[in-house]
Amino acid sequence: MTPIRAGIAACLLSVFLVPFAHGAPAPVEVEARAMLEDLVAFPTTADGDAVPRMADYLRGRFLAAGFAPEDIELVPAGKSVGMLVRYRGAAGSPHKPVVFIAHMDVVTVQREDWNTDPWTLTEKDGALYGRGAVDNKYGLLTVAQAFMRLKREGFVPDRDLVAAFTGDEESGMLTTQALAQRLQGAAFALNADAGGGFRAADGKTSYVYQASEKTYVTFELTVRNSGGHSSAPRKDNAIYELSTALQRIAAHRFPVKWNDISLASLAAIVDAVEGESRASLQAFIARPGDEAAVEVLQEDPYIDRELRTTCVATMLRAGTAENALPASATATVNCRLFPGETVAQTLAVLKDVVGNPEAEFATLAIPSRARRRRCRRKRWPRWKP
Ligand SMILES: [Zn+2]
Repeated sequence: MTPIRAGIAACLLSVFLVPFAHGAPAPVEVEARAMLEDLVAFPTTADGDAVPRMADYLRGRFLAAGFAPEDIELVPAGKSVGMLVRYRGAAGSPHKPVVFIAHMDVVTVQREDWNTDPWTLTEKDGALYGRGAVDNKYGLLTVAQAFMRLKREGFVPDRDLVAAFTGDEESGMLTTQALAQRLQGAAFALNADAGGGFRAADGKTSYVYQASEKTYVTFELTVRNSGGHSSAPRKDNAIYELSTALQRIAAHRFPVKWNDISLASLAAIVDAVEGESRASLQAFIARPGDEAAVEVLQEDPYIDRELRTTCVATMLRAGTAENALPASATATVNCRLFPGETVAQTLAVLKDVVGNPEAEFATLAIPSRARRRRCRRKRWPRWKP
């Protein structure tokens, strides 16, 4: 994904085009398809215990392909487990290892949002449906299959290659941190959960690279109050004050930003954008920051997010009883920061926008450039699988 196409929505459905629809599939394609079915069948959500089972399954596959037991390591962290597979390169190589990363877990499923069984890879109209079919079990599959196939063929790389599969990318990212500690000193990492190749209906294949990504951070905003009985309402009220704060956040737009990468990524999608937005996008690319263009583009949430930091309320909790004045009201506000902006800067802006010194802000979890609770829902026709 491009920096900005780094999308945001939690996907309800993952879909992936059948990549071998023409002619009889090659044996490696049959094997890959069968393995994707196996992978999708593991319900690797944060509330279950399927990640360790999936890691065991993968371990078995790597062993069968010829990897030595000592080159396959399971790394427990928190409630999940990460996995490292070392593909040994030529002895005495002066080169640093290259890492290939993917994640085994998937976002929790609301079964009623699905019209197929999310844990059964299902083919319909030339597309494959299943939770994680795209994010990120397909990416993991490509890494695993490439490692296994090259191993079976006797390939020896000029350096060590390491597959690093995390188990809680969509939640706590503790396995990510544990694996990152082990992988210090690598030359670089290639992320199977970013960018990729897509074959369009006309048979054309496109490849995209991700060079940058918005930072993910979540804040909680709390307003407190002495409370009281609902029979004697007062003007000060935690729920009302929180709603005022949220209205201000809703009305605020962060300034438009751009850089070489964001402009290049916008240029890459401009042909696939339809309607008035296309001309405005062309104008923006020619004259970054063009106000008339921004006026139009900011109405499209999938383009607006590429132009700036965004913050949005996503959850609420308040009060304890229907006949009591609320002692507190809390909103969750999720932000995606334009590359280069900091969490501290964004928090300062939010406090300023809310303008209520009594409002308490908390930063949830550890913000990370890599933290992305979303799947890559392709938005432009050109990218649709
Ligand atoms: Zn992912």
